[in-house]
Amino acid sequence: MTEFAQDRAAAAGGTADIAIAGGGLAGLSLALALREGLGADARISVFDPTIGRDTSGDLRASAIAAGARRLLTTLGVWDRLGGAAEPIRSMHVTDSRTRDVARPVFLTFDGDVEPGEPFAYMVPNASLLDALTQAARDAGIDLHAAPVSDFVTHRSHVEIGYGAGRRLSAALLVACDGARSRLRDMAGIRTVSWAYDQSAITFTVEHERPHEGRAEEHFLPPGPFATLPLPGNRASIVWTERTEDAKRIAALPPMIFQEELEVRFGHALGWVKPVSKPGVYPLGFAMARSFIGERFALVGDAAHVIHPIAGQGLNMGLRDVAALAEAITDAARVGLDFAGSDVLERYQRWRRFDTLAMGVATDGLNRLFSNRSDVLRLVRDVGLGMVDRLPRLKGLFIKDAAGLTGAVPRLLRGEAL
Ligand SMILES: Cc1cc2nc3c(=O)[nH]c(=O)nc-3n(C[C@H](O)[C@H](O)[C@H](O)COP(=O)(O)OP(=O)(O)OC[C@H]3O[C@@H](n4cnc5c(N)ncnc54)[C@H](O)[C@@H]3O)c2cc1C
Repeated sequence: MTEFAQDRAAAAGGTADIAIAGGGLAGLSLALALREGLGADARISVFDPTIGRDTSGDLRASAIAAGARRLLTTLGVWDRLGGAAEPIRSMHVTDSRTRDVARPVFLTFDGDVEPGEPFAYMVPNASLLDALTQAARDAGIDLHAAPVSDFVTHRSHVEIGYGAGRRLSAALLVACDGARSRLRDMAGIRTVSWAYDQSAITFTVEHERPHEGRAEEHFLPPGPFATLPLPGNRASIVWTERTEDAKRIAALPPMIFQEELEVRFGHALGWVKPVSKPGVYPLGFAMARSFIGERFALVGDAAHVIHPIAGQGLNMGLRDVAALAEAITDAARVGLDFAGSDVLERYQRWRRFDTLAMGVATDGLNRLFSNRSDVLRLVRDVGLGMVDRLPRLKGLFIKDAAGLTGAVPRLLRGEAL
């Protein structure tokens, strides 16, 4: 044990080099990335009251872009997913009124980011969380099934309270505790935020004919209706409505719900039927004014929440993971205090602009598409049609959405730290 570690051990009950509050998709990915970068000697602790709980109630699935998939492969998580991941081979975008019979396609994306590498995969959140939890256990990460309740920052360490009055000290505390982050509030970091008065109804459907990896996003006046391919003849539905309507629709008797689904899903894949109950998720936007504090950093939804219109929220969280783990590893290798302000500033500089740009873009897309104006529909359809005819621009959009433009962290390039 180093002198520094002894100092911290004396100050509080146990020790860890890095403590992570929140063992969701971002928190566990960060723990594994740090294990990969810092090696087996680093003490990494993750706190979350839900660790080890049954995940089958989470019916969401996420589009994992190519960069994030490379990170999960390098961390040894992707291979644990077995057959749960389905490649997205093409994406088709339409823009129409809800009850229009024909939905002309204005924009299509297809092809790979690299030969043989699809631009994204669909993965059930529960499968990914289970794979991450198992990988973290196997990597010797300390998993505590308890929330972080408070923390006190000292010059050389952070003292963390968790569970029923237990304490631990760490060089760095990372808050991955989600959109309503209590740790962010405790650190005095404010956010810019608003609600969209839209909610996403999400569930899984089975359909008659194969989807062949085709994802569809229909821009309808209340918000996008997305059909995202899952293994077999199944798809994940993200159906956006005004919040009041979303609750009402989700509670409709099955026959009427089925009719409303068919109006939006169409008949191109033959019959369609829901195979899970619908969940309703209110949508909002939030951006932390700072991603860092003293010996403190925010990662994932604790730092930013965006509209799911482009399926980028978790992907951005995994880009945070890659950037923070790389900044910490680089500093530790040359013997610097990896929780020092220079290191955390590097992380913040790396992530703030990209995050803000994505937040503004998704907010703008939602405002442009989720309305009933015929004039706006004409303008955006001309715009979409132009983009569709510019393969180089489309290629750039795909690389950008895959997280493979700009200063790409090593893990997103598929390299070890
Ligand atoms: C309808 C919908 C569809 C989406 N689709 C996509 C998509 O296709 N692609 C994509 O990239 N993103 C998508 N997203 C966004 C994505 O789901 C989130 O960005 C992602 O799940 C956030 O992960 P996280 O780990 O940061 O936060 P969370 O998943 O919220 O995890 C936070 C964790 O912190 C724990 N916690 C809370 N408080 C404490 C505490 N005090 N101490 C310890 N632990 C604590 C919680 O128990 C929880 O496990 C979608 C979002 C929605 C709503």
